[in-house]
This record gives sequence, structure tokens and C-alpha cells, in this order.
Amino acid sequence: MMSMENPVMKYTELENIGSGGFGSVCRAFDNATGGEVAIKKINLQGLTSKELTVNELMVMKMNRNPNLVNYLDSYLVDDELWLVMEYMDGGSLSDVINEMYISEDEMAAVSRECLQGLDFLHSNHVIHRDVKSCNILLRTDGSVKLADFGLSAQLTAEQNQRSSVVGTSWWMAPEVVTGQPYGPKVDIWSLGMVGIEMVEREVPHCNESPISCC
Ligand code: ATP
Repeated sequence: MMSMENPVMKYTELENIGSGGFGSVCRAFDNATGGEVAIKKINLQGLTSKELTVNELMVMKMNRNPNLVNYLDSYLVDDELWLVMEYMDGGSLSDVINEMYISEDEMAAVSRECLQGLDFLHSNHVIHRDVKSCNILLRTDGSVKLADFGLSAQLTAEQNQRSSVVGTSWWMAPEVVTGQPYGPKVDIWSLGMVGIEMVEREVPHCNESPISCC
């Protein structure tokens, strides 16, 4: 599942881009290709839900599409899982919403690209379950891609619905919040929230404390 070579020799780290509950993400230079990559370093020690990490790795590896952040490689380095992916040099949609004016045409284009990504995931029976503006990444060439597959769920013939309450509450569909069985449509609700966010510059109910569930 993972490459065995030492990534420390393969990449030159340039800067830390951000961090989450899992560890950190840095921008790095691929010494062989000369291209930029993003490396998500997930600290496995003390991580209660290691399956979420493996889930992210598998979903990225098995679902390649122009509207999904592309998986490149993965490594086990001491207690860390390094997930190497394409570098999105335009930041997240959340940054753009906070920093600049977005025209209606741009909102339509972002929505179309995200819907194409979701259509691809859903046709492969995967629910993203954490669609929100900070998980939509942009490139300065205009590409728009869905990121962060840590909470995604693979549906099967035996289990074609889910009922676990996962995601971030401001973007969650009512059936997820109330613990009802749900399917891929919950991602469309969340994208609808992103649409409102682009227009209103804030997601509905953002003055109430959010709940992140996984
Ligand atoms: P959590 O996973 O705990 O919700 P998070 O969503 O902030 O936290 P990540 O989505 O992994 O964690 O990202 C951390 C930071 O790295 C964010 O600022 C995100 O925009 C940035 N980032 C993640 N992947 C890439 C990428 N492929 N290219 C550029 N920046 C990225």
C-alpha cells in the first residue's frame, strides 16, 4: 500500500502550510521531477482512529479525477504516515471567501467543478461527508478540487446507506445531524451550504458553536 523508499531524500521541504487535528501539511519540492507537492504528515502515535487515516489514503488512491486532489505517493516514516499529493497553489475556497469578491460566474464555475467531483465519487459509491469551503482547494490555473477524504464512506451492495453522525455541523444535512440513514445526497446539501457561503460570505448558523464529528 505504501512506498518503502526514504522520502526524506526524495523531497525538499519548503514551508509549513497548515495543521489540523491529525498533524501538519507542508509544501515540498520533488527532487526528481522538479514539481511542487503537498505532504500531509499524519502522526499515528496516539491516534484513536487509525482507520480514518487508512480510509483517506485508500479513497484518494482509488478515486482519481480532475476535480479531486490527486494522490501521488505515501510513506511510513517512524510514527508518521506521509501522504504526498498534488500541491494546490491557490489555497482553499474558504480563504478566497474571506479575502476577496467572488463573481456569480465564478460561483457557478466553482459549483460545477465540485459537482463534477461529487458525481465521480458518487458514481463510485463513495460519500465524501465533509464537503465545506476549507476542503475545496484551488489552483491558480483555475482548477477546483475536493480535498480531505478522511471522513468519506464507501457504500457497498450490503451497506448502501450510512447513519453515523460525521462531518462539521454547519454544513451537515439534517438526516446526518439527526442520525437517520443517509446516502450520497448529503454531499449535495453540504455543497448547497457552500453555495450560500459564497453568496453571504458566511455559512448559515455560524454564530452557533460548530460540532465536528468523526
Ligand atoms: P482537519 O483535518 O483536522 O479538519 P484541516 O482540514 O485544516 O484539519 P487539512 O485539510 O489536511 O486539515 O489541511 C491543513 C491545511 O493544509 C489547510 O490549510 C489546507 O488548505 C492545506 N492543504 C491541504 N492539502 C493541500 C494541498 N494538496 N495543497 C495545498 N494546500 C493543502
